[in-house]
Amino acid sequence: MTRVAHADTPPQSGWDIHCHTVYSDGTETPETLVAEAVRRGLHGVAIADHDTTAGWQEAEQAATRMSMPLLRGTEITAVDDGVSVHMLGLQYDPENEGIRELFAMTRRARLRRTRRMVEMIAKDYPITWDDVLAQTKQGERTTIGRPHIADALVAAGVYPTRSDAFAGAVSASSRYYIPTPSPSAADVVSAVSAAGGVSIVAHAGDPGRNRVLLSDTQIERLAKAGLGGLEVWHRGNPLEQRERLLTLAHRLDLLVTGGSDWHGAGKPNALGENLTADATVEEIIRRGCLPAIR
Ligand code: AMP
Ligand code: FE
Ligand code: FE
Ligand code: ZN
Repeated sequence: MTRVAHADTPPQSGWDIHCHTVYSDGTETPETLVAEAVRRGLHGVAIADHDTTAGWQEAEQAATRMSMPLLRGTEITAVDDGVSVHMLGLQYDPENEGIRELFAMTRRARLRRTRRMVEMIAKDYPITWDDVLAQTKQGERTTIGRPHIADALVAAGVYPTRSDAFAGAVSASSRYYIPTPSPSAADVVSAVSAAGGVSIVAHAGDPGRNRVLLSDTQIERLAKAGLGGLEVWHRGNPLEQRERLLTLAHRLDLLVTGGSDWHGAGKPNALGENLTADATVEEIIRRGCLPAIR
């Protein structure tokens, strides 16, 4: 495997490889993502909606038209020993049966759990399941989740913004919260590898998402199972976590990536605020089974 020397400081130019669109909980289309990337002078972007490849084709067409390099990816919901884990799967075959089945299961589980959360919330707040469905911009092709409940609460005038709803009724610590039944992180690593792609643990050191973070031992186990990298440059990772993750990446020979986790107007994260170095992206392309769109 080719080693990529990783600088221990965030890249000042490069690719934003963690971006969401209307195919999950972003507010903008893949086309707007690509146009924004052009406007900001990024070297490339990756579309990475939650548990779906539904936006890939639109992103491909826009990227080709606007000559913006593109990686195709997905942020995959997983769990490791009770710790919720998000994994970026990049440059894999979207027709692979194993990964398609995995997404189908997660999407069914998301639908059921989101609906059950809404049943409880609807007892205390003026929203219905239809109000939540109305917030999914691509209908059934949108990966549904708490952001759409949050948006329905905003539309009903309960909260001023989605982030306020996340601090209130849809928070993971609220009494309405139900976790999404998810595949294990090891299963996701295997599924992405089997589909010819590269897997990366997203925002692995974000204490705002997890009361208990993935331990060194857990990350080491995933690395042995074929994990490709760690997302170090992400606004959720505090300095001491970045240092821990960098040390682990060196020791375990993992790629170091960065991304904004852009959600359009759904989150304050600005496109390109965190980046992945060009050389690291080239290595992801080399390892993956899809051509990059240039
Ligand atoms: P769920 O996967 O349904 O539990 O919902 C959690 C998801 O909400 C995470 O992946 C976050 O990226 C997403 N999210 C979108 N917008 C926000 C926001 N404004 N504040 C917090 N989380 C958000
Ligand atoms: Fe999200
Ligand atoms: Fe995430
Ligand atoms: Zn994300």
